[in-house]
Amino acid sequence: MQEATAEYRISIRSLLLRPDEKRTVSREIDAETAASYGIPCAKLPKIDGVLENRAGVLMMKYRLQCVPELECDRCLSPVAMHIDETFEHVIVTETASEENDAEYLLAPDAMLDLAEVAMTDLRLSLPTKTLCSPDCKGLCPVCGKNRNEGDCGCNSADITLDFQ
Ligand SMILES: [Zn+2]
Ligand SMILES: [Zn+2]
Repeated sequence: MQEATAEYRISIRSLLLRPDEKRTVSREIDAETAASYGIPCAKLPKIDGVLENRAGVLMMKYRLQCVPELECDRCLSPVAMHIDETFEHVIVTETASEENDAEYLLAPDAMLDLAEVAMTDLRLSLPTKTLCSPDCKGLCPVCGKNRNEGDCGCNSADITLDFQ
C-alpha cells in the first residue's frame, strides 16, 4: 500500500551515484494534480516502472495507464481515450546542449517529479485532434443542437459549416 498522500517528487541522488542501483516506482496521480495539468481523467493516471542505473546512466522505464476524458472538437461530447503506453527516459542532472530531447529528463537538483514526467508524457501521447467519431456531424450553427442525435429541423443550409 502507498502512503495516503502520494509523494511525486522523489530523490534520485543515491540512484545516480550507485551503478546497478534499482528502484521500482508506482504511483497513481490524484485528480487534483491531473487537473492542474489541464487533462481531466475518467480514470486517473497510473504509473508503474523502474528507475535503474545502468553503468552510470540513469534510466526510467515505465508503463502509463490512463483514461483521459477529452472533448470532441466538433460536438463537444466527452470522448474517453484509453492510454496504455510504455515510456523510457534517460535522466540527466544537466543538459548537454544538443540533448534537448523528450527522451531526456532533466533533474538538476537530483529530484524527479513523477507527476510531471507522467503528465508530460500523457500530454504528448494525446492526439492533436479529438473526434467522438470520424464522421461526427458537429453542432448545428443555428440552434446548437448536437446533429449526431438527429436533425434539429433548422434550415441552416446557408451557413452550415462543411466539416468534410
Ligand atoms: Zn463529436
Ligand atoms: Zn439547429
